[in-house]
Amino acid sequence: MKSIALLLTIGLITISFSGFSQGEVPSDWCGTQFTEEMMNKVQSATERHMNGTLTKSQPIYDIPMTLHNMRNTNGTGGVDPLTTLEVFCEVIEFYAQHDINLYIHEMKTWDNDNWTTDQALGTIKLITAEDNTVNIYNFRDLPGLCGYFTPQYDVLALTGNSQCYTQETIIHELGHYFALPHTFFGFEGTGSNCGVYVTSGERVDGSNCATSADRICDTPPDNSADRIPCPGGNGCQMYDRDGVAFFPDVTNIMSYFFDNCVNQFTEGQRAVMHNKIDEDRQDLLVLTPPANLNPVTETAELNSPLDVEKPYDQVLFSWDATPNATLYYFEINRVASFSTALRVASTITEETQYVSYDLNPSTTYYWRVLPFNKGNSCSAEGTSASGSFTTTDQEVAVEDVEGLEAFEVSPNPVNNNQPVTVYLNSKKAMDGQLSLYNIAGQRIHSEAVQVTASDNTFNLDVQGLAAGLYVVHLEFADGAVQQKLIVQ
Ligand SMILES: [Zn+2]
Repeated sequence: MKSIALLLTIGLITISFSGFSQGEVPSDWCGTQFTEEMMNKVQSATERHMNGTLTKSQPIYDIPMTLHNMRNTNGTGGVDPLTTLEVFCEVIEFYAQHDINLYIHEMKTWDNDNWTTDQALGTIKLITAEDNTVNIYNFRDLPGLCGYFTPQYDVLALTGNSQCYTQETIIHELGHYFALPHTFFGFEGTGSNCGVYVTSGERVDGSNCATSADRICDTPPDNSADRIPCPGGNGCQMYDRDGVAFFPDVTNIMSYFFDNCVNQFTEGQRAVMHNKIDEDRQDLLVLTPPANLNPVTETAELNSPLDVEKPYDQVLFSWDATPNATLYYFEINRVASFSTALRVASTITEETQYVSYDLNPSTTYYWRVLPFNKGNSCSAEGTSASGSFTTTDQEVAVEDVEGLEAFEVSPNPVNNNQPVTVYLNSKKAMDGQLSLYNIAGQRIHSEAVQVTASDNTFNLDVQGLAAGLYVVHLEFADGAVQQKLIVQ
C-alpha cells in the first residue's frame, strides 16, 4: 500500500524501541496484508535463488492487464484514460526490464455511482473482473490512500488523484501483486524510525536476511514505514537490531521513500516475482498475447469529417488503420487545444470509426485520434492527428445519398426479442455497409449489404440487446444515412 500522507520526519531524533518480534506478521495496518504463508513463499524463493536452484518457466512472461475506469453514473469522475495510458507507458517499460511484459488486454469503463470507491470491491470484482488478467481498478479517490493490492480479492485499487497516480505507485502495487513485501516489512505503522534503536528486523551484515524483513537478501535493511523524502547528507540514519548504524537504500520501489527517490527492483525481487507467477499465477499465462506488441511510430490518418459541414444529429468519424495500432484514443473537443474541461466525448476503441449523436447545431468541433499498441501505450502521447468541422442546423436526410428515396427502420421502438426491418427504396443499385451503434458510439454490429434499384429490406437482429438508444447507420460510397432506434 502507498499512503498519501507526506510526513516530514527527517531530523527527528528519538530514542525508543519499536518493531515486531521475529516471525510475527503485522496486523492489517496496510491495505496490503501479507500472510505468514505468503512470506514463507518469498523466503523459499529467496533461498532457492541464493543457492541457484530457482527455475523459471519461461524467459519472458507476457502478462495481460484489464484496466477498469470507475466513473459516476453520469460519466463524470474516474481517471482520464489519456492519463492512464501515459502512466502505464512507463509502468510497462519498467516491468519489461524485469522480463515481465505487461500488456493491456482491455480498458473498461464502468458508470455506476455505487462503485466509485473501493467499498464494494468484492462485488465490483465479482461482476467486472476479467479472468486470467491482472485486474486494476482506477478510482477517482481512495480516502487516505494512493493505492493498494488486496490479496483477499486479488485486485489492485488505485487513486486517480494526480499526486498519487504515478508510475512509481503503480509499479509498487504491482510489486505487491507479484508477491513482493515492503523492504521495511515488519515495521508497518511504526513511523520513519529515523535515529530509532529497534529490536527486530534485518541486520546490516545480512546474516538474517532470508528470515527477516522482506526476506529478500539483496534488499538491505530499511526501517522506515513513513513516506519520507530521500535523505541528503546525514539524513535519516537508522540502526539495526544490534545497534549498527546505516542509511537505507532509498531507491527501492518497495520502500516508502518519495517517488523521486525510487527507481529499481533488485535481482532478488525479480526472482521472487517470476517465482510467484510460476507458482501461483499461472492463470495469467493462459491467454495468447496479441501477435503484434510493437510500438506505434506513425500518426493516425484522419478521413472524415475534415473542414466540412455536417448535419448535427449524427456524425460518423473515421480514420485509417495505423501500422502497429491495436487501440485508438478518440476525442471530440470544443477547442483546438483539446482542453480537458471542454472535452465533449472520448473513448478507447479497437475500431477505426466512431459515431456521435449528441453534438449541437451550428457549432465548430475539433477531434483527434491517438493510436497505440496494447503492449506499448507510450505513443498515446505525441502522435496525435487532429481535425475540425462545423455542424449545420439540419438533421441527416435520405437525399444526402444520391439515388436513395426512402429509409425506414421498423418497428421503432422495438422489443429486444423482435427482429428489426430496415427498408430502403433506391433508384440505383449500390453496395453499402449496415451497422448498429450503441449510445457510447461503439459499433456493435456491421454487415455488407447490396441495395438493388427498387425496394429492399434487411433484417437486423437486436435479440438480447440492453434497452436503450441505438443508431442504425447505412453507409454508401457517396454518403450515409442514420436513424435512431429505441430498444425496449
Ligand atoms: Zn505497499
